[in-house]
Amino acid sequence: MKVTTAADDGEPAQRDALRSPGRRVAGANCTPGGAGTNAYNLSGNRVLGATTVHLNPSGGVVSGAASVVQAAFNAWKAADPNASTMTVASDGTATAPSADHTDEIMFEPMGRRTLGVTYTWHWSTGGYESDIAFNTNVPWFQAASEGSGCYAVNAYDFQSAATHEIGHMYGLDHVPAPYNTMYYAMTRGETYKRSPAAGDALGLRAIYG
Ligand SMILES: [Zn+2]
Repeated sequence: MKVTTAADDGEPAQRDALRSPGRRVAGANCTPGGAGTNAYNLSGNRVLGATTVHLNPSGGVVSGAASVVQAAFNAWKAADPNASTMTVASDGTATAPSADHTDEIMFEPMGRRTLGVTYTWHWSTGGYESDIAFNTNVPWFQAASEGSGCYAVNAYDFQSAATHEIGHMYGLDHVPAPYNTMYYAMTRGETYKRSPAAGDALGLRAIYG
């Protein structure tokens, strides 16, 4: 669920959670990626210019998490060269999302149905802040490549989840299209969310031109 609010009005942040399927399975339950659709939804927020995103490596769920997250940002930039350039710095200290005018990425324990959450604040003075947290309580892996879009691994591909959450940071909302990056859920072993689908790219271009 997403609700756009202004945090400096004392209201809660817009909050998005990428969910794991409710059904727990013994192994990977993905299928290779299929054709995405042209569907997209905009949440109303955007990144106003080149931005440094501060990642706290503490508790990182895969090794080299900062470079993985940078690769996820780069996938969106490739989908729309006009999208704001985002640079990951592995110098963050945040351990929980907070409204502090700084874009931050961190790792923290959450309930097992959640993989990651993006919090976005809209400042009344203009501009937005997004913080992303990834759940340390679910199993993760980092596939060597996207491959066919599905690995027989009983864990979640971190880069796929990062690409989805970063889509929220750029201003995209969920779509009911399973093979789009902005689909609301992600299965174990799935890697195809690493590549924005046609609708994901159309949405970004609708925001950034
Ligand atoms: Zn989401």
